[in-house]
Amino acid sequence: MVIVMKPEATEEQLKNVLSKIEELGYKPHVIYGATRNVIGAVGDERGKFVLQSLEVLDGVEAVIPILKPYKLASREIKKEKTVINVSNVSIGGNDIVVIAGPCAVENEEQIINTALAVKKAGADILRGGAYKPRTSPYTFQGLGEEGLKLLKKAGEIANMPVVTEVVNPEHVDLICEYVDILQIGTRNAQNFELLKRVGQANKPVILKRGMSMTIKEWLMSAEYILNEGNMNVILCERGIRTFENATRNTLDLSAVAVLNEETHLPVIVDPSHATGYAKYVSPMACAAIAAGADGLMIEVHPQPDKAFSDGPQSLNFSAFEKMMERVRLFINIARTNYP
Ligand code: PEP
Ligand code: MN
Repeated sequence: MVIVMKPEATEEQLKNVLSKIEELGYKPHVIYGATRNVIGAVGDERGKFVLQSLEVLDGVEAVIPILKPYKLASREIKKEKTVINVSNVSIGGNDIVVIAGPCAVENEEQIINTALAVKKAGADILRGGAYKPRTSPYTFQGLGEEGLKLLKKAGEIANMPVVTEVVNPEHVDLICEYVDILQIGTRNAQNFELLKRVGQANKPVILKRGMSMTIKEWLMSAEYILNEGNMNVILCERGIRTFENATRNTLDLSAVAVLNEETHLPVIVDPSHATGYAKYVSPMACAAIAAGADGLMIEVHPQPDKAFSDGPQSLNFSAFEKMMERVRLFINIARTNYP
């Protein structure tokens, strides 16, 4: 249920409503708005109508059921887009955010050179995997904590916030010491214990779409993170499994349009994993911006043919520069015409 407070409701009245929600056995989440605050009360769906009794409390304007199964992620609870600030970068605001870097951190020179190159070309955030969830146990699994150290160092040198993937709930605290944003990969998008754990962390989370997930299931996964109190979730479309095999996955750009309708959370697109081929990354990056994405995640490597993972889909520095030039044209168009 959404408890809509009156614009003139006092802090005291808000606190009173919060404690009444808890007394009824529900979990309150306050969404602070420019003109009024609303409270999302989530919990057992079956008895939710007891919350209707809150309507008589001072400061309450209305108690409205949230019809969607995803409650905190839905536009019903929050009409305006969520803007997530990380250092000096805003995700979900007016700017298009570009996250770039190698699939995996491989060594110091590789990550620092990539950081400086992508920064120069206009990227905002540096990516790099330290724990890699690989299909085969016999391939490179990432440098672990050493990779985190190198990623942090490269981020500091290039003056960029950094993001890395978390694959294990036990790693969350350690990873939080080194990075600014946590990433949940496609293979863990329905690992509910991991989702709950990153929901307790105080870092934003990029939640990639599970490769066989519907949009509704994806939003329900986001809900697991939000429900733990972490409201800084960014959704990343990275392609889904279909019968098509000309590309590694099928980039579902309609998901961007659907999500912008359904949720207030920022939405970014990863054309690297979606297509699997460097030559398709730039056109799909432009298409993602045209579709209304808030940002991009792009794999970049100094020598893609020597990459330990995902080389075929990684751009070299000059291809990334060219992509950025091309993408900028679409950013200008999208930001002038998109509501
Ligand atoms: C990655 O970002 O390197 C990655 C493993 O992505 P995904 O989970 O989308 O496959
Ligand atoms: Mn990768």
